[in-house]
This record gives sequence, C-alpha cells and structure tokens, in this order.
Amino acid sequence: MTTLGTATAAPGEFATGRLPVGEARDGSEVALPVAVLNGARDGQTLYLQAVSDGDELNGVGVLQRLVPQLDPAELAGQILIVGIVNLHAFYVAEHRNPIDDTKMNRAYPGDPNGTSSERIAAATFEAAQRSDIVLDLHQGSTSRMINETRVRCGPRHRMHDECLELARVFDAGYVLDQKGPDGQLARAAPDEGIPTIDPELGGCVGWDEESIAIGVQGVKNVLVHYGFLDGEASFGEQTRASGFEQYGAPAGGLVSFRKDLAEEVSRGEPLFDVTDPFGAVKSTVTADSDGVFWRTRRLPQVATGEYVCSVGTDIDTV
Ligand SMILES: [Zn+2]
Repeated sequence: MTTLGTATAAPGEFATGRLPVGEARDGSEVALPVAVLNGARDGQTLYLQAVSDGDELNGVGVLQRLVPQLDPAELAGQILIVGIVNLHAFYVAEHRNPIDDTKMNRAYPGDPNGTSSERIAAATFEAAQRSDIVLDLHQGSTSRMINETRVRCGPRHRMHDECLELARVFDAGYVLDQKGPDGQLARAAPDEGIPTIDPELGGCVGWDEESIAIGVQGVKNVLVHYGFLDGEASFGEQTRASGFEQYGAPAGGLVSFRKDLAEEVSRGEPLFDVTDPFGAVKSTVTADSDGVFWRTRRLPQVATGEYVCSVGTDIDTV
C-alpha cells in the first residue's frame, strides 16, 4: 500500500485524500489535497507538489491536466502528490501564507511544532523524503517570466549533477543554476540526497496554457526517463544562466521595455526607459552584463527603486 495523509492506494490503484496540517482559526481542520498513484510494477518514487506560493496556479494546472492521463496499471513505482501546498495563501489568492506572513519556500525542511508555514513544510517534506526525485512546481509569481527550471543546491553540492540532469530532462528550455536561499525545498531535499528541481512555469495571473503544456510535458519526460513509464524521453539542449541580475527603477514613472522575454542582451544595451505620463524619457537603464532577458514586472508604473526586470547572466548550454 502507498499512503499520503488519508490517501491510500494498493498496487495498480489511484487515490485522493487530505494531509492534515493543523486547524484554522475557527477550529476546523486544515488539510492539503493529496493524491497517490501506486504503480502495478515496482520502481522509484516521485514526489510532486504545486502552489507552494499561493498565487502560482500553473503547477496545479499541470496536475489537473496530467493526473487524469496517468494509469497506475501502466506505472512502475509510485507518485506522491500534494496539489495545493500553501492552502492558506491559495484561499485568499496571495503569494505568502497570511497566517504567519511567510513565503513557504523559505520554511523547508520545516518543523512539526513550528509556525503555520513550518508545519506545512514539515508535513510535505516527509513525503519528499520518502521519494527518489522531487519536482516543486512554481512560476515567476504574477510577473512575466520565461519558462525555466531552477537548480538551487549550488554547483558545488554533491547532488548538483543529478539535479542538473533532472532539469535537462524536464526540458523547459532554460535553466537557472544558482544556489538558492535557505529554506527552499530545492535546497533541503538535495541535502537528503534527493535530486530536486524547481520548475518555474512562466509567470502569469491565473493559468497560462503554454506554460502548463510545458509543465505537463516536463513531468511526462521525467516519468519516462526515470523508468516510471515505458518509452524514451526526448529533451533538447538547455540555455543555462549561472548568474541573475535584477534591475530597479532609477526614477518614478512608467516603464517601457526595449527587450522581449528570452531575447539576448549585450552589456551596455538599453533594457528599459522610464517616462513621465506625457512620454518624456526620464531615464534609460542599460545592461550591466551580457545575458538573456528573463523576467519583468507586469504593471508599468514604478516608484524609484522598485523592481523592474531581471537578466540571466553567465550563459552557456547544458
Ligand atoms: Zn514560487
């Protein structure tokens, strides 16, 4: 039997259930929606989670489209899935857990006696620790971003090559290979010897079908490449950024971009202008390094110092 929370599946079966993580302010149970697929044949275990950030819905879009296509009778091994990790934030369509104003992906590996986010992290990390491979489905929040996967353990970590291979197999086209901040699942799980990536499926408000399709194909590639499903995965060369530079507004006003997402950037080239409401250019910001135009804010209005865009740097292919 394979169990996650109240979901229990015998070999060849699929089950859904709930993973309790505490109580709400009215004393009712808070329990994350979970699913397990128990393959008819033995194999590895994959852990999948989505909506670690409550406004990032492309990951649950991937699950919602992919899971009905998976037949446990054709599967080797098991898939453990948490469909909505940051449930409190999901309820109110916010990025952070409103109970403790915390970003879930800074709370791993969690604490079963800690804050709300630490308890959710601990409950989901337990499932991750039972697995051989972990995919933590994210996106660039509600900003605009290319489709990429993140390898967050850092290039000197003992699991780096395995994580990078997983990113190649997922085949989003771009990889950000840079050590992430403390508390990320994609750092905590490799510390336990589990290859983990953080696919970042674009950036949008709600669902973006193109990014969701890339995510569905990415998970399918992982299932085939690692022997859960029969077949041969096909994946191409990835453009890798090992650095990431963020640009802020030097003046208040309205931003006009000079580059499109995924376009190559050369050092010294203009990235964006800030204008006043009547079109007069107040400031033009140029690139500090060569790279790829990676992410931008969604809304044009900015205050001095406010985030505008990011460029992936130190580019090569893997
Ligand atoms: Zn996220």
